[in-house]
Amino acid sequence: MRTITLTDDDRSIYHTEIAPWLPTRLFDAHTHLLFNDCHPRLAETMPLANDPLLDNVDLPWLRAWWKALLPDSEVRGMVMGFPTVDVMMPEENRLVAGQCRPEALPFAWLVKPSDDLSQLEADIQEFKPAVLKPYMCFVEGKPMNDANVTDLIPEGQLALADKYGLAVMLHVAKPQGMGDADNLADINRLAAQYPQCQFILAHCGRCFITPNAERMVETLHRADNIWMDTSAVCDAGVFLTVLKHYDRKKILFGTDLVTAVAFRGNYVRMGLSWHVCTDEMVSRQGGTAHRSTFAAYEGLAALCFALRFLEVPEEERNDIFYRNGEGLFQRFLEPNTP
Ligand SMILES: [Zn+2]
Repeated sequence: MRTITLTDDDRSIYHTEIAPWLPTRLFDAHTHLLFNDCHPRLAETMPLANDPLLDNVDLPWLRAWWKALLPDSEVRGMVMGFPTVDVMMPEENRLVAGQCRPEALPFAWLVKPSDDLSQLEADIQEFKPAVLKPYMCFVEGKPMNDANVTDLIPEGQLALADKYGLAVMLHVAKPQGMGDADNLADINRLAAQYPQCQFILAHCGRCFITPNAERMVETLHRADNIWMDTSAVCDAGVFLTVLKHYDRKKILFGTDLVTAVAFRGNYVRMGLSWHVCTDEMVSRQGGTAHRSTFAAYEGLAALCFALRFLEVPEEERNDIFYRNGEGLFQRFLEPNTP
């Protein structure tokens, strides 16, 4: 039996900095299950999972975290497996599909560049995922941080996403994420070339720090099929930038629960890069009794600060927190379809 415990600080942050700006209905566009049996080297490939509250994440456990962190809202979401380099991909994909389909939750299919296209098309037809999910750790032939978009997901796979009207959840590479000129040129070109493929730029285009977000919004096209999600970003400057300069109809609330944001800590800017910072890493000054809250709350508090600072009206907050995501995944949210 696992129990999620909130401290007085957690509750104070939720009630004063988050809850007043949340609707009672949420669509979490970026979540992960993680089945330990499908990750033989998990302790090495995902050190954050070395915590009994953050590993073995099946759908009931994801729901338990939604309930604990967002107790006043009904939450649904889009669910993915967990991309570690050692993941047993077919097995984890089938487990995710098996848990999500009966509950009419849209889910993603993990893909790697070398996947056989005819097998992938057969899987799309049989399992009916809403999303293809590539990841940097599956890139072959070059350092993963140098990968272009089509090194993450080759055009043959994009063409399949286009044919079936699927989304692609992109965690783009390069040190500046979507602030990188090559990534921007690639997305602008590919979104026009594959108009039925829905490009979701995870983590505000993997812009965890403000200068990268500023570069992204200068050049990124507004297009029906380019979206970004808010997951795991903990920097209010990033949210102020995208909320002010990007299309609010294309911004999707997402958390990145469970393993990547339910630890106590934060994703912090240090110069021109960003890093995971856990409670255990911090040497505290002055004998304070306060301890870290969940990274998920740090991200939500930053997002809600930006929403209220910019006086984003309730209608647009509802778009971001559920209507945009429900619209994007509408045909996967109805039982017995498509
Ligand atoms: Zn993620």
